[in-house]
Amino acid sequence: MPGFELFGDREKQQVQDVLDSGVLMRYGFDGARNGHWKALELEKAISKRMETAHTQLVSSGTAALTIALASAGVGAGDEVILPTFTFVASFESILALGAVPILVDVDDTLTLHPEAVKKAINKKTKVVMPVHMCGSMADLEALKAICNANGLLLLEDACQAIGGSYQGKPLGSYGDLGCFSFDYVKTITCGEGGAIITNNKTYYKNADHYSDHGHDHIGTNRGAEDHPFLGYNYRISELNAAVGVAQIERLDEFLSIQEEHYTILRDALRNTDGITFRRVPKGGVENYSFLSFSLPTAELAKKAHDALSVAGLDACFYWYDNNWHYYKKWSHLTNLTSLGKLPKEVCEQLPDYNTADFSMSDHWIGRNISCLIKLGWTKEEVKLRAEKMAEVLKQFV
Ligand SMILES: *Cc1c(COP(=O)(O)O)cnc(C)c1O
Repeated sequence: MPGFELFGDREKQQVQDVLDSGVLMRYGFDGARNGHWKALELEKAISKRMETAHTQLVSSGTAALTIALASAGVGAGDEVILPTFTFVASFESILALGAVPILVDVDDTLTLHPEAVKKAINKKTKVVMPVHMCGSMADLEALKAICNANGLLLLEDACQAIGGSYQGKPLGSYGDLGCFSFDYVKTITCGEGGAIITNNKTYYKNADHYSDHGHDHIGTNRGAEDHPFLGYNYRISELNAAVGVAQIERLDEFLSIQEEHYTILRDALRNTDGITFRRVPKGGVENYSFLSFSLPTAELAKKAHDALSVAGLDACFYWYDNNWHYYKKWSHLTNLTSLGKLPKEVCEQLPDYNTADFSMSDHWIGRNISCLIKLGWTKEEVKLRAEKMAEVLKQFV
């Protein structure tokens, strides 16, 4: 997955443009910037690649999720439905606004189970936030139908699946809003960065203002700009954006390398009875950043994962035990451990996740292993790896 593996001359040249002008900020200083507007250029490139009208580039994927929610008017006490298998950023962005994260089960897609989403809806629900984990997507058609029937927004967290598609549309562009991360370990990177995409002009305008202290960006005198509503500083710097300008040009090249490596690994496991691959919803194309598969039981999966590590096959993950990605290790959320006092709505409305029944998630995540697909491998390395993987896994099915 990581774009940093193929960091080279193009990235350096883009950053050099910014260093030569000395203008490290995305707004203003028109005369001094030698015509370089890296953040704007990257926004245009993202809009084009994602076939979406508007892009707002920001400082991180976490910021993108926060701003996407804020731009749609989500605030204190509003409930946002999200999966038990994701990254901590998902609930952090919700809590940052005083809204309430409502965890629900994942199914064999390793993403939101539409029936579980339906059950979690009540009068306070505002948003459904599927997370396209490890390169593949949620059942977006079913989720959109649920959102439409209940007047809810669909916000896609596509931070781990940039470049994948669903029914011919780039992931992130199917819902009302979509978010990407360009942190250091994502498919393409800015070092740090993120983006919100949307076809909704009002959300875009809100995101533009909100991410820069509420500035309305009218006129050429920054000091004279109005602030129609409260905002915050989630700006990206020109240096970070410059790296992204070079990386997005390489996105499709990275995806095709990932697909090639993924296919070699998958083919090697295809005939092993007892191994089943993650279900990709109909009409979906992965971005091939991970190969995810299930073993017959959780016990076997855990043992197989340990054996893969012993055999030197790094970069395979057993998410069930993972500190960052599965609800079982989110005691700070479950216990609402916070430095300061949290909003009363959050304290009152957060379900008791210590006693919640997520046995369906445990069933699927407990049996799953996901192997990261690296860009830097040679074809020989991938083939050797595929053989070794098949050898090791055979003992556990
Ligand atoms: C990386 C990631 C984020 C957050 O992105 P940052 O840029 O690291 O803040 C959000 N959601 C998912 C699923 C991610 O993998």
